[in-house]
Amino acid sequence: MDGHARAARRPGGGPPLTPGAGQTRYSRVSPFEGLTGELRRLPGIGAKTALRLAYHLVKGPKEDIRRLARALAEVAERVHPCPRCGNYCSAEICSVCRDPSRNGSVICVVEEAYEVGAIERTGRFGGLFHVLGGRLSPLDGVGPEELHIGRLVERVSEMDEGPKEVILATNASVEGEATAVYLEELLRPLAVRVTRLARGIPVGSDLEYVDGTTIAEALAGRREVRGDGA
Ligand SMILES: [Zn+2]
Repeated sequence: MDGHARAARRPGGGPPLTPGAGQTRYSRVSPFEGLTGELRRLPGIGAKTALRLAYHLVKGPKEDIRRLARALAEVAERVHPCPRCGNYCSAEICSVCRDPSRNGSVICVVEEAYEVGAIERTGRFGGLFHVLGGRLSPLDGVGPEELHIGRLVERVSEMDEGPKEVILATNASVEGEATAVYLEELLRPLAVRVTRLARGIPVGSDLEYVDGTTIAEALAGRREVRGDGA
């Protein structure tokens, strides 16, 4: 293809000699444009940031670009959703699911796989996870069938007898709320305790600057002050 393109152009980079075939070749994006185009497809990356990143890569050592390309290729080849919880992993089963020290009677449900890391980093949760792969959003065409809800019901049904809990850690958005309400109703008949993450005042913030809804949520979710500081 590239050879064809070169043949259709004048030596020295002038316009193509054969207008028909050349038109397509001429409008082909350069490798640099291809890179910025791909970067722009990433979330949170606009045209300016894509350009800055592309220039940063091109300016730096070629080995850095090759290392990035190798990392991307490896992710494409080896990373896949864990068949049990939906978190991404490169082994057959993810490290959380195959860790025997985790509490198998508690499942924390999150919308996206990257939220698993947010909870893991707290070091305060020893149960298992379940990644929904999104949240209910009828306007965007996301219904229960599009999320990994059936698998969650299966997992809860397969849990050992005894006290079990599902923590709904969906986001505090309208869709996140709707998803939690839907799951709560779905799981209720399964003899499982269904809880939600508490909502309230962010750590380090002044009450004066917190919005009314958050203060109301914090009031509703207040708890007794214990002497042990827990
Ligand atoms: Zn897993």
